[in-house]
Amino acid sequence: HRDTRVLRDYIRTIPDFPKPGILFRDVTTLFADARGFRMAVDQLLTPYAGEPIDKVVGLEARGFILGGAVAHQLSVGFVPIRKKGKLPGAVVSQAYALEYGEAVVEIHDDALKPGERVLIVDDLLATGGTAAAGIELCERLGAEVIGCAFVIDLPELGGRALLEELGYDVHALTV
Ligand code: 5GP
Repeated sequence: HRDTRVLRDYIRTIPDFPKPGILFRDVTTLFADARGFRMAVDQLLTPYAGEPIDKVVGLEARGFILGGAVAHQLSVGFVPIRKKGKLPGAVVSQAYALEYGEAVVEIHDDALKPGERVLIVDDLLATGGTAAAGIELCERLGAEVIGCAFVIDLPELGGRALLEELGYDVHALTV
């Protein structure tokens, strides 16, 4: 029989993780399936066919898995944005607000060149805080963010509205 599963069928929802009341979208089941993972990488890239992209920027941690595969598919370099204190070289840092407190993300200060066209990749868009901080870091290095691609968008959390209001292209594969 032909496999008729669509991308969404490979993602599972785990209740009460990491804390009570949260429905966590688990993409490890998508990544673990050969057909599902290829579908995800292909679909992340579909809107950008024919568009020049110089670098893929992945957001820690699941953005590394997807972004690495996307960069390989495009034959371009991959650049990680990591949580504070993880990158060994000189960094540029950006703080952003969490529900309680704040977080800091970093990029190597020589990872992108002025004018480079970058695609930002992550697994999930919620409030958009992480992606907005990532965009800010890319722009502080002089790069141009041509798009932000996610597997999952949770639109009720406002991330897409925020990024689109700021003028960025948002591409997501499923809600
Ligand atoms: P935001 O900054 O948009 O509020 O949150 C998005 C970030 O949190 C992403 O880096 C994403 O990996 C992570 N995240 C938040 N909720 C979930 C979830 O339910 N599942 C997964 N896989 N990641 C999540």
